[in-house]
Amino acid sequence: MINVKILTGYPEMFPGGLAHSLMGKALKENIFKLETINLHDFGIDNRKSVDDEPFGGGPGMILRPDVVEKALLSVSNNINTKSTKIYLTPSGSLLNQKKLGILAKLDEIIILCGRFEGVDQRAIDVLGFEEVSIGDYVLAGGEIAAQVLLEGCIRLIPGVLGHPESLLEESFSNNLLEYPHYTRPKIWEDSLGNKYDVPEVLTSGHHSNIKKWRQDKSVEKTKKIRPDLYSKKEQEQD
Ligand code: SAH
Repeated sequence: MINVKILTGYPEMFPGGLAHSLMGKALKENIFKLETINLHDFGIDNRKSVDDEPFGGGPGMILRPDVVEKALLSVSNNINTKSTKIYLTPSGSLLNQKKLGILAKLDEIIILCGRFEGVDQRAIDVLGFEEVSIGDYVLAGGEIAAQVLLEGCIRLIPGVLGHPESLLEESFSNNLLEYPHYTRPKIWEDSLGNKYDVPEVLTSGHHSNIKKWRQDKSVEKTKKIRPDLYSKKEQEQD
């Protein structure tokens, strides 16, 4: 079981998407436990502020380090669990499938969600948060990013997916994007009367030809859409 602790100013955004489908089932079955810690409970002064203006000027508000520390101390018991602390930020290292696999083996994940301009850097450095980004774009807050990270991570825990073998061939598992899929009807007639068949090999029943076709399509797609990933694949083979 993974204990997930989320430090956020918007606890009502959880479990959000994690309450549904496979994640909802995993949550009910205690494959992971989700606890939210409301940063506003640790706000200072009589206004219970959690953020303040940036030193040096500029727009927006920054989450205060003392507030983050108090919130963290309320949940972190520092006993010898396999635990990590993550601050979600566009200026962190880019999340990938390999990293999700590492996170899926931990006992505890503590996630700090930022809002507005971000978090005081001292809180990140001193309290030992690893900075992780979910992609090269900017969201308004870390809450959705936390759900993205957790969904990607939890589906890797044994027992969560109905067909665990789907993890073996899926996109990124070996620096390739997955091959295209087809299902019934075999001949699909669209609303304009055009007919579209599925690639013949897939209905041939010839397993080694199907395997080869899928491998070729995977390579073709990766070269076209993600040349960066394909060059990693080539380096791996060298
Ligand atoms: N001023 C920051 C952006 C802040 S966005 C910058 O330029 O880097 C506000 C919050 O949204 C961040 O603190 C972070 O928690 C979250 N966030 C936004 N984009 C994200 C991304 N790509 N990955 C992870 N978290 C993100």
